[in-house]
Formats: sequence, structure tokens, C-alpha cells
Amino acid sequence: MASVLQRATRSKLTVTVLASALASGSSCALEESRPETVRLTGSAMGTAYSVTVPGASAIDEPAIALAARQELQRVDALMSTYREDSELSLFNRHVSSDPFPLSEATYTVLASAQEISNQTGGAFDVTVGPLVNAWGFGPAGIAEPPSEAELDPLRTRTGWSKLTLNDAERTASKAVPDLRCDLSAIAKGFAVDRVASALEGLGFTDYLVEVGGEVRAGGLNAEGEPWRLGVERPDESGRTVQRILQVSGTGVATSGDYRQFREVGGERFSHVIDPRTGRPADSRVASATVLDPSAMRADAFATALVVLGEAEALEVAEHANLAALLIVRDDQGGLREVPTSLFRARINH
Ligand code: ADP
Ligand code: MG
Repeated sequence: MASVLQRATRSKLTVTVLASALASGSSCALEESRPETVRLTGSAMGTAYSVTVPGASAIDEPAIALAARQELQRVDALMSTYREDSELSLFNRHVSSDPFPLSEATYTVLASAQEISNQTGGAFDVTVGPLVNAWGFGPAGIAEPPSEAELDPLRTRTGWSKLTLNDAERTASKAVPDLRCDLSAIAKGFAVDRVASALEGLGFTDYLVEVGGEVRAGGLNAEGEPWRLGVERPDESGRTVQRILQVSGTGVATSGDYRQFREVGGERFSHVIDPRTGRPADSRVASATVLDPSAMRADAFATALVVLGEAEALEVAEHANLAALLIVRDDQGGLREVPTSLFRARINH
């Protein structure tokens, strides 16, 4: 996950405002006011979120807080696999091949997910849920890694091509009735985009929205500069920053196996599953960071690039014209940066 670097200091800029005295022509009263920043944090969708809006004042705070909370709650209520009453859970319990009508939001996310599955040769796959659960990363949790005999039947009921969407009807149909969907690798990015749109709807163009490490940076920060985001060094030593990105007007997402994993009998299992094998991704890509105008796409592609491994990830990212940075483990246990050409062009240092 990309961490947002907190700036200890606020803007030192002081704005001089001509007071209404101008109208009378008698005197020019000079009033000083400091630009303010609204910063909110909280938890949603099983993770932490933060919203920073430079230029907003305390009067704006309740509207910003309400908009952010509403958007996050809406996405959670629709797409959580942890909530039995979510739309996604209802769809997952719909053990039938009959078309299932979906809300616009869930349909949008599923349609994007399918497009990205197509573009990544199935490395991104929202039907991977039963395998995620089998490896102990789902709501249930498990003690032992599954055997091949246990994985086989799960493989037959997973696969993104077994899900068919109908744009005109806004429905989803399952080719195997017990197909399930897990939007954990894309819904946070979507939620970030929704909060960003809500802020723009309130008239704010400068903002930083972050949900569980997925980010959307709009306009400029309180210093009037591009936002500074730290990409973590993908190791377990702590939270050191590998490099700082200066960004504006983009979504940024990072996926990696360096923090979320399980260890069973000394073997380490990633929480990202390779749908092509049904096993945790065995990739040297320790983390993948993707910049895209849509945080949703950035989120999904970041997950896919970790699954694909260095060579394929680079090929897919170049083909999809993504600004992406892979951090790859080498044989000596060191880390190597592998940027795409668009990333190099965008981040010129
Ligand atoms: P994080 O949740 O740490 O931000 P990701 O965005 O990469 O990381 O999402 C990982 C989650 O996505 C997993 O916990 C799992 O629920 C789900 N998942 C695992 N493998 C895949 C995959 N190949 N395609 C889509 N979703 C996946
Ligand atoms: Mg993701």
C-alpha cells in the first residue's frame, strides 16, 4: 500500500483579503487569513481512510465528512464480502445461472474487473474468492493450507470467463451456479474515486483521498505543490519509504505480498492468488504501484501485476499503457526497481 506522507507543517502562505470597506471607498481594511486544511480520518471497509482538503475551512468540514462517510458506507453496503446483507453477498448466495440484477455501482466495478481480467490474461479475477478462502485469507480463516485434492473442485467453480455481464439489462449471470465474487482488490479504489467525485461535486478540486493505501490526488497540496506520496520499501523491516512520488490529478495504488501474508510450516503464502494455478502468487514482484486517472483501475492493475511476475507484468503494463513501478526481489535478497516507460516519463527523477 502506498502510504501518504504527512506534512508536519502547514502552508506558511498568508492571504491578504481586501475587506468590504473597498465599496465605501473610505478606507482599505486589510484582513489576514490563513488558508485552512480539512483533514479527516476514520475507518471504513475494514480499513482506515483519510481525506485531506486544502483550502477548505472549518465551515466546510461537516459537508466533507458527510460526503466521504456516505460514499464509503454505500460501497461497503454493496460490495463487502464480510457483510451478509451486502448486494455482493446476495449475488454470491444466488446459486443459479439466472441473470441477477445489480446496482449501477456494483455493475460498474464488475464490468471494469472483467475488462482488466481480459487485459491481464486472467491474472486479475474477481471469482477467485473460494481460493482466497481456501488459503485462509477470507472471512472464515483456516489453519492448514489446502491439498491439491481440495483445490481441484474449487478451480472448477472459479474463473472470470464464467461470469457474463449484460450491459443493457445491468445483470450478471453465472455459468456455474456456485460462482462467487470477491471485489477486495478493486472496491477500495472505486470507493476512493467515489469520494473524490463527491468532493468535486462540493466544489473542491484540491484533495487527497486515501482508503487502505489506495489514493486519489486531485489538484495541489496546501503548499500549492503536487502531492507527495511515499511508496513503501516492500520488506518486513518496517515502514521505510522506497521513493517519493509527486503526483497531481491521478489515482495511485500499490499491491504487494510483503505485509499481508501467512506463514505455515515456515512457508510463506501471499494473500494474492494466482487464478491460473489456484495457489498464492509466487512472484518476485514484491510490490507494484500503478498510476491511473481512475483509482479503481490502478487498484486492480496493481494486484494483477503482482500475480503476473516481472516479465509478464512489464509486458501487460506497457501494452495497457500504464504508468507502473514494479519493485522486484533479486537472487541476493535485494530489491530492484522496474518502471514502465510511462512511469519514467511521468516521474522524471
Ligand atoms: P490490499 O487489499 O492489500 O490492498 P489488493 O488490492 O492486492 O491488496 O487485494 C488483495 C485481495 O484481493 C485479497 O485479499 C483477495 O481478497 C483478493 N484477491 C486475491 N487474489 C486476487 C486476484 N488474482 N484477482 C483479484 N482479486 C484477488
Ligand atoms: Mg488491488
